[in-house]
Amino acid sequence: MVTDYGLIDKVTAYRPEADVHLIRRALELSAEAHAGQRRATGHPYLKHPVEVAEILTQLRMDEATIVAALLHDTLEDTHFTREQIVTEFGEEIAYLVDGVTKIDKLRLINREQAQADSFRKMLVSMARDVRVILIKLADRLHNMRTLAPLPDEKRQRIAQETLEIYAPIANRLGLGWIKVELEDLCLRYLKAEIYFSLVKQVAAGKKVRDEYIQGVRTLVEREIERVNIPAEVVGRSKHMYSIYQKMTSRNLELGQVYDLSGIRIITDTKMHCYALLGIIHSVWQPIPGKFKDYIAVPKSNGYQSLHTTVVCEGGKRVEFQVRTRDMHRVAEEGIAAHWKYKEGGPIDAAGDDAFRWLRQILEWQQEVADGKQFLDALKVDLFSDSVFAYTKNGELLEMPRGSTVLDFAFAIHTELGLHCVGASVDGKLVSPRHVLKNGQTVEVLTSNDQFPSRDWIGFLKTSRARSAVKHWTKQEERRRTIDVGRKVLAREIRRQGHSPEQVLADLPKALAALGVGEEQLYSEVGYGKRSIGEVLAHLLPEARVRPSFKERIMMRIGKRDGAVVIQGEDVMVHLAGCCRPIPGDEIIGHVKRGKGLVVHVSDCSRLEQLDFDPELMVEVVWDAHPSSPHAVPVRVFTRDRTGVLGRVSSAIADAKANISHAQIHTTEDRKACFNLTIEVDHVRHLQRVIRAVERLPDVLEMHRVRGE
Ligand code: MN
Repeated sequence: MVTDYGLIDKVTAYRPEADVHLIRRALELSAEAHAGQRRATGHPYLKHPVEVAEILTQLRMDEATIVAALLHDTLEDTHFTREQIVTEFGEEIAYLVDGVTKIDKLRLINREQAQADSFRKMLVSMARDVRVILIKLADRLHNMRTLAPLPDEKRQRIAQETLEIYAPIANRLGLGWIKVELEDLCLRYLKAEIYFSLVKQVAAGKKVRDEYIQGVRTLVEREIERVNIPAEVVGRSKHMYSIYQKMTSRNLELGQVYDLSGIRIITDTKMHCYALLGIIHSVWQPIPGKFKDYIAVPKSNGYQSLHTTVVCEGGKRVEFQVRTRDMHRVAEEGIAAHWKYKEGGPIDAAGDDAFRWLRQILEWQQEVADGKQFLDALKVDLFSDSVFAYTKNGELLEMPRGSTVLDFAFAIHTELGLHCVGASVDGKLVSPRHVLKNGQTVEVLTSNDQFPSRDWIGFLKTSRARSAVKHWTKQEERRRTIDVGRKVLAREIRRQGHSPEQVLADLPKALAALGVGEEQLYSEVGYGKRSIGEVLAHLLPEARVRPSFKERIMMRIGKRDGAVVIQGEDVMVHLAGCCRPIPGDEIIGHVKRGKGLVVHVSDCSRLEQLDFDPELMVEVVWDAHPSSPHAVPVRVFTRDRTGVLGRVSSAIADAKANISHAQIHTTEDRKACFNLTIEVDHVRHLQRVIRAVERLPDVLEMHRVRGE
């Protein structure tokens, strides 16, 4: 008989009516399918799915989830098929196993894109049945627990992905303990030195801290007894990752983090939570600004509690959390706790108000075509906490922290955003850039003369608003290009000594011959993608068409139609000094007297100043095999600490990029700013360098510098 490592006992403990036979059959099938396979830990493979299932018993999930967890790797790693699972266990379980498999499988194709697509899939399946993501999270948690034997490079990759995606998802779904454990494991593998030194230091002070907290606990218990409110008082400690976060974000030493331990009180009703808060505040002095009422305004993942920090004996600060038993369960189990209320069918997360954010993500994921773009946007939304603001009609809107008036306007309606000139916030006039605070009432002000500009994108926080502005500017640009194309063609006909009205009467013929529509033709001419000479050859076949300045330059480059392929700089081709394009950037060529062809990044602000004369624009593309490295200016902000420049430059060198120029200065708020020029092969190479540098301690931000 196959060992179940105690799994069945754990299921029947919370679900006495569970179909033990079904679970046993899944165990046997999983054992058979994985027979002979071993994990990197050396254990038989079966131990992995069983322990994944065991994690799910801690969330007290149903048999279908447990069975699917036992089978979750069979479709990917064994000869087992979906049909077999349908026959043996039915459609519901096959759907769950298939959902988990699909998320894993996609990664194998092309890392970045596949990863993005797989998360899209994951979110879609979440909305259909949240059990898929619960199994996936349990799988990832067990993989993180057993990460040690893998090669370091792989460990780093998995830990990074976990920290960026899975821990935030666990947080968003309210799975408190899974999030905490994932984050600590990530810290252990991503910043091992820091992690182990923290563990050691925290352990060193633990005895003294425990005794102190025990004293406070006894005191508060005695006070509660007097009023006869049922309450359980427990000590709690902060987890390593949140200590680390606090130290880095506030630039603190461990000794300055006062809330390493705190106290949690669990009671029966909401009323008693507030009563207990009153008792705490009457015994000890609360610290202003530290009281948070997450009962009245729950966090977006459903979390509810009262938080307060008070000054206890000896002037020490202690944080108290007060919540009911139900709130506690939601804090630990999140969506899994909700799921149990609705047992009997798959939970439709999209219809559940506590998970409105999920519905929002799904809504705009349909508007974003590019998977990578979606993933980047998703990361932003997963990481930022929320801010709540009211419309003038009293409707509460949830937005990521740092959202501006303009984000708010777009959240209500795209038209409102496009014409927003500012807002009245709690009766005070503010600009569209104004960052919103919790609880503010916002009345958006618009004007028909107001239109979006590119620099809006710089301060918009929500993906929805950003893509709306991008969409609008794209359309506007096309409209402008068509207009310019129309004017330029007329001008050229006049230059050739003809009347545009007469000549353009023949335009339909020319369009037919060229095989394009009218708008398309004008836009191509406007963009400089199609030469005017080519169009005129159809409109004025008998006339000799004099080559324009641009055509003369193009002939010297040795190109008549199609895009010019850019390898590097030469006599006729120059890379613009304003925007410093590098391979991978979208680019456009500009013909300049006395210079030849100057290549700009296609959204370079200098191009707009050139008035975008299409007659001088040329379509250009990068050579598929870039030959020499390209210089690109970047800026790095760090905390002003000794050795940080050394760490930054060796991280850049490790990422195989050269530093060709460096200039450093410090700012008043004890930050350092490095202006560097580094040499990279491609935009992707630059992104790798940025990621490597931003991962360093004390580094706040690194970005490319353009257009100065
Ligand atoms: Mn697995």
